[in-house]
Amino acid sequence: MNALSKLRTATSLVVVALSGLALSTPTTAIASDPLAVPPECNMGSTIDLEQVDALKDVSCDFTNVTVSLPDGTDYAIPEAGMGVFRSAFLDEDSSVVTEGDEDVVVAHSIDGNLAVEIDGSKFGNTEVLRQIDTQQFTPTAIQPLAASSGKCGTANRYSYSASGNFWSGKAYNWYFKDVDTPSTNSLARIRNAMGTWKEGELCQTGTSVSNSLSTSYLGLTTADSDVTSSGGCSSSESPDKNVVVFNTINQSGTLAVTCRTYVISTGNITSADIKFDSEHSWFSGSDISACSEKYDVRGVALHEIGHAVGLDHVATSTNQVMQPTTAKCDTSQRNLGIGDAYGMRALYYGS
Ligand SMILES: [Zn+2]
Repeated sequence: MNALSKLRTATSLVVVALSGLALSTPTTAIASDPLAVPPECNMGSTIDLEQVDALKDVSCDFTNVTVSLPDGTDYAIPEAGMGVFRSAFLDEDSSVVTEGDEDVVVAHSIDGNLAVEIDGSKFGNTEVLRQIDTQQFTPTAIQPLAASSGKCGTANRYSYSASGNFWSGKAYNWYFKDVDTPSTNSLARIRNAMGTWKEGELCQTGTSVSNSLSTSYLGLTTADSDVTSSGGCSSSESPDKNVVVFNTINQSGTLAVTCRTYVISTGNITSADIKFDSEHSWFSGSDISACSEKYDVRGVALHEIGHAVGLDHVATSTNQVMQPTTAKCDTSQRNLGIGDAYGMRALYYGS
């Protein structure tokens, strides 16, 4: 028996004792030790997309590890079984020309695998990517309204996008953090926007497509927002509060960001925080016709709340509230389009 054979025999005995399986080489035997940490898991506290891909076939402990993306945004890897969805709303001067350059999902499976999806570009574990893309929730079939054209027309009744995240308790309860608020009226405008989603009224026509979601403002808080200063997402605090805040977002062209944390297996949202960029100029009046060269708090809030309760972006050509960009003093952004309202009804139908 040569030296290698002796080594192989000795190692195989250990492996049989551990797992009951006889393996052919010492290398495989070491990797099969259930107590061993794969060498790929020896990472720093921040990893990039290249490392996410390198880790695609191993399970690691991702506690306190952050994923840093090329655009400078950072994402705390959520606990096992959870995903975080982030969406940015862009201003009219944004240099991002391709629609869809604003959505990120970081998902960490119950098995300890990691995947990142950026506007359809995929990195990391194949099975987790499949779970991200699989609709976990089937929207309720709903009857269309009488035919009409434009933003409120039935041609746009399917102009909504939902990746399967929703509040299973049909309630979004939120706090306001008052640190860099541009005007005391801003909170009132955000509360107006919450009410607009609830009423489901289309384009001030008096026609509504109702839904069963309730929203409650629970008061002021000093708790931190899950949206980071880079425009990424930090870990949700536990117990978590849903925090809405104005503060600096260090991403040019970004008006606001929502971070939504959810259970991968069910789609149930457990946390949704909204941050408005305090560096932009904001209009917080009640009458949009008085707006000049500013972004409308109420209109931008309406869009972000859509993300917080489960809606994703649709194409700009549909003119829905959930389009990915908006202009200064956008008068149409305060009212739901038919796709917006139908999306909400699909997510929150019944009593
Ligand atoms: Zn958005």
